[in-house]
This record gives sequence, structure tokens and C-alpha cells, in this order.
Amino acid sequence: MPIQSREVRLASRPHAEPNLDNFSIATVDVADPGPGEVLVRNVFMSVDPYMRGRMNEGKSYVPAFQIGQAMEGGAVGRVVASQDDALPVGTFVRSFYGWREAFVALTAKLQIVDASLAPPSAYLGILGVTGLTAWIGLFRIAKLLGTETVFVSGGAGAVGSVASQLAKMRGCRVIASAGSEDKVAYLRDELKVDYAFNYREGEPLDHLKRGAPEGIDVYFDNTGGPQLEAALFALRNHGRVAMCGGIAGYNTPVAGPRNLVLAIGKRLRLEGFIVSDYLKEMPKFLGEAVPALQSGKLINRETLVEGLDAAPAALIDLLHSGARNIGKVIVKLCE
Ligand code: NAP
Repeated sequence: MPIQSREVRLASRPHAEPNLDNFSIATVDVADPGPGEVLVRNVFMSVDPYMRGRMNEGKSYVPAFQIGQAMEGGAVGRVVASQDDALPVGTFVRSFYGWREAFVALTAKLQIVDASLAPPSAYLGILGVTGLTAWIGLFRIAKLLGTETVFVSGGAGAVGSVASQLAKMRGCRVIASAGSEDKVAYLRDELKVDYAFNYREGEPLDHLKRGAPEGIDVYFDNTGGPQLEAALFALRNHGRVAMCGGIAGYNTPVAGPRNLVLAIGKRLRLEGFIVSDYLKEMPKFLGEAVPALQSGKLINRETLVEGLDAAPAALIDLLHSGARNIGKVIVKLCE
């Protein structure tokens, strides 16, 4: 018996900052699963900054969302009807069929989530590509060593909060920034970073000089913009920048750092990366992250948003300086 599912579609392409008119919600029929397929009801879905880029027209490393079509992204759901013995009813699965309440898919497109290790939502954040992004950026791209000092911008966000914690776990000195006082308190009091600052209060470079008088070895860049410029000044010779994200310019492009030339004299290495190129490293990352999460060395903070209707606003908010979220934004779609 087919069921109905609501889905969020791209209604129009935003100019600069997106607004709710750029999204629409439609109801569609979902067919019964055929052989090798399952029907999944999404319990959690992810909203992520990179989705802003997919709302634009044109070629990028992921295809643009199409106007009038359902958007997509990470989701964790429960199998509610199955035509494949490998995925019985009740199994939690992770998929890329987010932004909708339910879907039918071939089981080969889904990954089983082990809900005995951590709450299923964690597989969209700290135990998912979010956590892997932090790990790859720090240890594969920047090749961070335990004796070094690292600056993490966006430190209280999904990727940044994992990066800050992983670096502390390895013994590094960690400087982290965020856009509100409660996020700074979270970084300082709960994640125990060595120096936390609000990048909207005072000059980022003054904060970096206070937090790392000898300079920084690595900058984990989630933002680009003025914090990248400050980091280039603060980096020591042979410093590295893991270019993870440039959210300061996602809605409206920002000018590049005026001091990029420092990279020459200081022999800096700036390297961009896309986490999907490193998915084969997931088991290695989880080997470190799961025990750390279970022992309490890693803290998983999520900001929960209720219901599909609230998902567009959650994405819009994420793209604001001083956004509401601490840790990963998770949209809860059902119990
Ligand atoms: P997030 O940090 O949880 O959320 C985004 C945060 O960005 C907001 O909470 C806000 O925090 C900050 N922000 C928004 N506008 C800003 C601005 N103009 N200047 C400075 N900060 C601003 O998101 P996330 O999922 O962890 O992603 C963090 C970054 O990593 C993003 O740039 C994302 O694109 C990137 N990323 C890259 C990869 C990859 O493969 N390279 C994978 C995942 C994510 P504040 O309150 O601190 O302003």
C-alpha cells in the first residue's frame, strides 16, 4: 500500500542570502519497495553549509539542485518495509535521501547505522562525514603534530567542534573562534580549548596574538574572509592551512586575503580538500572516534530542529555569522 511523503524542493535560486521563498514543500506518493529495495522513513536529516552552493546554478564539485526537484543530503532513517533480508524492518540506515520524510531505494544505496554504538543522529555529525572532515583536515591535510598550536575558526560548529577536540586529544594547543559569547563559553568551559574568542569582538589577529604569542603552526579554516587573513599573519614559517570551508563568502563572495603574499616568505602550504575524496578513511577515523565518544573524551553536541517544515529556516540560519547552532544541526523528522 503506497504511502505519502512530504519533500522540500528548490523553488527558485537565491541571490545572495536565501529566504523561505526559495523553498517549497510538496507531497508525493512513495511506491511499495520492489525486490532488493526497502522503504525508509527518515528520522533525522542534515542541513549543511555546502548545500548553499548547490542552490546556485552552474558546475561545482557536486551538481546543482534543480528547480522544482526535491533537494538531497544526508539522512538517517528506519526501514519500515523491506524486500531484502539483509535490511530487516527496524534497521537504521544512512542515506543521501534527506529533505524528505520517506523514500524507497535499493539497499546498495544505503549504509547500516549501528545504533548500539551511538545515537543514530551521531552518524550525520560526529561519527559521519562531519567528524571525518575534521580528522582529514587536521591529520591528512595539515599533518598536525601533537606538539603544535592550531587555530580552528567556526570552532563551535559541527566540523569545528570535532576538530578542536581531536586536536586537544592529540595534545595540541588549540585556539578556537566562534560568533557569540555562549559559543565561546562552550569552547572554553566544555571543550576546554586553550584560548577561545568571539571573532566579532575586536580584531581576530589581536586575539591570535593573545592566544598564541609564539604564532600558530596550523590553521583549520572553516570561514575564509577576515579570519584567514589574520591566520596568515599569525602563522609561523612552514605553517599549514587546511582549507575546509569559506562560509564567510557563501551567500556573498568576499575578497581574498590581502596578505596572501606572506605564504611565500613564510613557506606556507595552503591546501583545500573535499571530504568525499577520503571516505575510505572512515573506518580508521571511527576507530579513534567511537572509543573517544564512548569514554567521554569526545563530546557530541547537537542543535535539534523539529520537523521538515523547519529545515529551510535551519539552513538559512546556519549561513549567518553568529548562527544559533552549537555543534551539528540535526533536523528531527519523526520519533
Ligand atoms: P557549522 O560550523 O556547524 O555551521 C556554520 C557556522 O558558520 C555557523 O554556525 C556560524 O558560526 C559560522 N558562520 C556563518 N557565517 C559566517 C561568517 N560570515 N563568518 C564566520 N563564520 C560564519 O557548519 P559545518 O557543517 O561544521 O561546516 C563548517 C565549514 O566546513 C563550512 O565552511 C563548510 O562548508 C565546511 N565543510 C567542508 C567540508 C569539506 O569536505 N571540505 C565538509 C564539511 C563541511 P559562528 O556563530 O561561529 O559565526
